[in-house]
Order: sequence, then structure tokens, then C-alpha cells
Amino acid sequence: MPTEVAPTDSEQSTRETIARAVALLRAGEIVALPTETVYGLASDALDPAAVEKIFAAKERPHFDPLIVHVPSKTALHEVAEVPEDTAKTVVQLVETFWPGPLTLLLPKRPVVPDIVTSGLPTVAVRQCEHPVFHRILKHFGGPVAAPSANRFGKLSPTSAAQVLEQLDGRLPLVVDGGACARGLESTIVRVRAAAPKPVIEVLRPGPVTEVELKKFGRVEFAGRNAEVEDSAPEAPGMLAVHYAPRTPLRLLSAPSEFVAEPGRRYALLSYRGQEKDGYLGLHPWDSVEVLSPGSGRLAEAGIRLFHLLGRLDRGGYDEIVAEPVPERGIGRAILEKLRKASCGPR
Ligand code: AMP
Ligand code: MG
Repeated sequence: MPTEVAPTDSEQSTRETIARAVALLRAGEIVALPTETVYGLASDALDPAAVEKIFAAKERPHFDPLIVHVPSKTALHEVAEVPEDTAKTVVQLVETFWPGPLTLLLPKRPVVPDIVTSGLPTVAVRQCEHPVFHRILKHFGGPVAAPSANRFGKLSPTSAAQVLEQLDGRLPLVVDGGACARGLESTIVRVRAAAPKPVIEVLRPGPVTEVELKKFGRVEFAGRNAEVEDSAPEAPGMLAVHYAPRTPLRLLSAPSEFVAEPGRRYALLSYRGQEKDGYLGLHPWDSVEVLSPGSGRLAEAGIRLFHLLGRLDRGGYDEIVAEPVPERGIGRAILEKLRKASCGPR
């Protein structure tokens, strides 16, 4: 199937693109859409045959459930139940972070097909902030299922070109909404009633950070379960094999860990690109990419992570060596992606 890329560079082209995307969704097709996190591969969430096309295009195993995107805050209640004992906190989170990169895990309503949730009694829901995505959902009028628009286990795309690299010919349309503003997948949480404070359990770290969530309850991080590689994930996005570049990647925790083998070509993925961090001068690197060349801000590193990993992966090096980033704020999510990239298949 030929894949077209539809522009959103003027109001006129945006309107035409939105109409085409909505028509395809209504016809039970899949469409790649820009979100503020990464590009998503969307279909009508309530049509199992349409959702099946997402799994087929991504080659995603059916035990890995999808995120459901709703067109409004109130539409949450059409796909999920909000248990009374956590309702206050759930409403606070929705009011504070939606539309935005926070996904809530809640008991699902029967209208959500089992294929979306992998047969689980819960559904992962969020309202996306991207203006084009938002307008498409408003026109479509219902929820869409939309995981990241990559092949299973590969790097998440943060531009229309990166979607094409992985999925060209497997879908009719990619809506080009430019580069993603956040660059990392949404934070996924589950709320649990507890005294004296509710517990907000982070199942997948992302752009909404611990500091932001702390105002609404005690924040806990679900353990990194490397053992779930081949079985249903207890928590979203927690499969051990994920984000695997073809090139072997090694995440260092200190400069002293690096020993070069003669004859191998090494590329460095640096955090700030500064000599004083101790990694730049370790070796005559064949290539260096810097996650945050400006101010060393973690948000900038998050936006550029998948883009630069993809570029290094195409460079044909024997190994990508990654510097650690500080494990705070969105740095937690960046480190998690780098750890997963370092244990994937080659
Ligand atoms: P993606 O959008 O590709 O990052 O995928 C969304 C992630 O959410 C997947 O990795 C799933 O494992 C996870 N997920 C979605 N729904 C559920 C659910 N009901 N229970 C547990 N995990 C979920
Ligand atoms: Mg994904």
C-alpha cells in the first residue's frame, strides 16, 4: 500500500489533512498522527478489526496493550470507570495534566474491545495536547487507540520521516505535524487509595515528573521488571526489550568503565558535550552526538533522544557508547530508555 504524507503547514492544508485522516479512521483504517510525545499509530479504539491493523503494522504481540486517547476530559468516563476511593485524585490529575503527556490506568468499560487491553480489566487513557491530533479526535468524535508508530521494540518516531522509515507501505497516511515537542512517551500512572495519602504509582516514567505528581499523593515507582521479556507486561511500556537500535549500545555509569577494543569504531552519545564531564576525551570517538548542546537541560535531551539514537544507528559504528544523564525529573525516563536500548536484540 502506498503511504502518503499529508501536510499541516497552512490552515487550508491542515483542514484537508484532518478531513482525510478522519475519513480513514471512520473507514476502519490506521493513520499515523503527531502527538506532543512521539508519533502515534491510530485507529478507532472501539473497532476490533481496525485495532488489529495496528498490531499487524507494528508487528506488535497481542499481549502488549494500547493506550486509548479520548477527545475530551469527560470522554474518559465513556471508556473507563473511576473508582470512588480514588476519584478525587484521578480528577485532580486529569484537571492538572490533561490535555498532556499523562496516561492513567483505570478499570475499563465493556465498550473497549479486549484486543485494545490485551484482555486486561484495565485500560490506559490519556488526552493528547497536540493541536492537530486534538482536532482530528474532535471531528472523529470518539476514542482512538494509538501506540507509538514504530515497529515493535524499535525506536519511537518523533517526526513523520521517522514513521516512514519503519512503516512505509504499511499504512495509507502519515499526518505530518512537525517534530514532537516532548520526544518521549507519556508518563503512565495508576492511583491507589491509601492513608494518609493516595499512592500514585508510576508504571512508566515520562514527561510528567515525580515533582509534579507529588502534589497529589505519595509517588512510587514500579520496579523495572526485566523478567517480563516474553510475557504479558504487568505495567505499560515495561517490556525489557524495547527501543533497540541495530547497533549495540552501552550505557556507562562512569568514564572509567570504558575500555576500547582495537579496530572497533565507537560513537559517543554525550549528555552535554562538555570535556569536564569526563567522557569526551576518553577516546578519539568516530562520532559524537550531544543530547543537550545548549544549556544541559534534561527536557532538551528528551526531545532529541530518539532522533539522535536513530542517526547514530544509521552511522554504521560497531558500538554506541552513552553517557548517563542525571536521574532526576525527565532524566529518569531518558535513563530508562537508554537502559532498554542497551539490552535489546541486535
Ligand atoms: P506505546 O504507546 O507503544 O508506548 O504503548 C503503550 C504502553 O502502555 C504499552 O507498552 C503497554 O504495555 C501499556 N499499556 C496499555 N494499556 C495497559 C493496561 N491496561 N495495563 C498495563 N499496561 C498497559
Ligand atoms: Mg511504544
